[in-house]
Amino acid sequence: MENIGEACGVFGVLTTQRKNVAQMVYTGLFALQHRGQESAGIMVSDDGVFYGHKDVGLVGDVFDSDTLTTFPHGRLAIGHVRYGTTGGGSRVNCQPIEVRHHKGWLAIAHNGNLTNAAALREELEGNGAIFHTSMDTEVIAYEIVRERLKTHTIEEAAANALKRVHGAYSLVMASPRKLMGVRDPYGFRPLCLGKTPEGDWVLASETCALTAVGAEFVRDVAPGEMIVISPEGMKSLFITDKIPDRRLCVFEYIYFARPDSLLDGRSVYDSRLEMGARLAQEAPVDADVVIGAPDSGLVGAMGYAQATGIPYSMGLVRNRYVGRTFIAPGQMAREAKVRVKLSAVDQVVRGKRVILVDDSIVRGTTSRSVIDLLRRAGAAEVHMRVLAPPFLHACCYGTDVDNEKGLIAANHTLEEIRQEIGADSLAYLSLEGALASVGSDHCCTACFSGVYPDGEPEKNGKSRFEQPIGEQ
Ligand code: AMP
Repeated sequence: MENIGEACGVFGVLTTQRKNVAQMVYTGLFALQHRGQESAGIMVSDDGVFYGHKDVGLVGDVFDSDTLTTFPHGRLAIGHVRYGTTGGGSRVNCQPIEVRHHKGWLAIAHNGNLTNAAALREELEGNGAIFHTSMDTEVIAYEIVRERLKTHTIEEAAANALKRVHGAYSLVMASPRKLMGVRDPYGFRPLCLGKTPEGDWVLASETCALTAVGAEFVRDVAPGEMIVISPEGMKSLFITDKIPDRRLCVFEYIYFARPDSLLDGRSVYDSRLEMGARLAQEAPVDADVVIGAPDSGLVGAMGYAQATGIPYSMGLVRNRYVGRTFIAPGQMAREAKVRVKLSAVDQVVRGKRVILVDDSIVRGTTSRSVIDLLRRAGAAEVHMRVLAPPFLHACCYGTDVDNEKGLIAANHTLEEIRQEIGADSLAYLSLEGALASVGSDHCCTACFSGVYPDGEPEKNGKSRFEQPIGEQ
């Protein structure tokens, strides 16, 4: 099964008055664009009748002014931006997912990745279920709809269904009258609640999307909590009695989230600044200038510079019209995209001993290309400093690294990586340093530590439903 839930962005609103809710979601999704550039979708409930539009592409491509004006006004809408995975770019896998069942409609936007979706899907298919997509989100939809036969309310159905589901999910869901937000019991992926001065409720992956629609941050949705918002008000329930230790993905702070967001009460900006400062303590080096790899390395580079007194400068310029490099499928495309995306500023680096700070090394392609750019621009030395520990293990909770094959640190020593990327020196932040920087031991660190809080990657999970019939 395709790992398509991934580190996406989810958003939802329920308003006091009928209004242009699609426009609100569109605005929220724009603020969450960094969480996924592969596809975008909005679903509006017009008094219980759903109207949606979704497609592959950036928010601004999928929704032009014509498309936006065709949405009816309403009081309830949800939206989704999807993170790109190799081969996952088909229209059928865009979200929100929408199902019509015996009690009405249900739309779901999912951020995260389930660890038992293939098993659940096999069981459902054995009982006659027919799936239209290769997304694990559809399994959630099916489970909820099945439960809905037995329950009075959609939230009861969702709570029952989610007990069977393992792995990472932050969901924003819409029934004809209700907006729901739920976070898995570990809270792998973020989800927060906000309110506008007019009294409109907002759910979003990150606080930066609340700000974008003029909403105030109310609080984070707690791990295992379901928020149910209807025209009568907001209520909260828990989907399990046993809430384990929270495990928000540490990589959210390192890379995924926007620096102006707060995640579980902790500022992403402060975390990155602290990572840089700790990295400076752990791995100092004599140099003339500190630069950051845009965008996710910039704040950490400032932290490194502040801690050492070495001047911080803008040695790399990012073409802001290019998406994140990872999205391009295949190795060649990724390398080419790095060159389109970044260029070095000769005036800053020529003849200088440069400390290059980046958030992480995954495959190593980006670092190699960036260091190459800096050398061509005349840098005398390039010392690579990484704001995360070595990325050693596959992630099954939504960082789009579903096996260890391409992970440079999983297959090479530090010295080999240094040579491979062409740096004069290379150092990573320790895991302790990363956790201390985000101010919590209660993070998922599976990609660095190999400790999987809620189930390891499913065997055949990704490919099980992708193969042509007859080959399984
Ligand atoms: P590379 O080492 O070439 O695979 O690229 C690493 C860079 O990609 C990092 O510096 C991040 O900016 C970015 N990155 C890290 N993790 C991810 C991820 N899961 N998805 C997309 N981009 C990522």
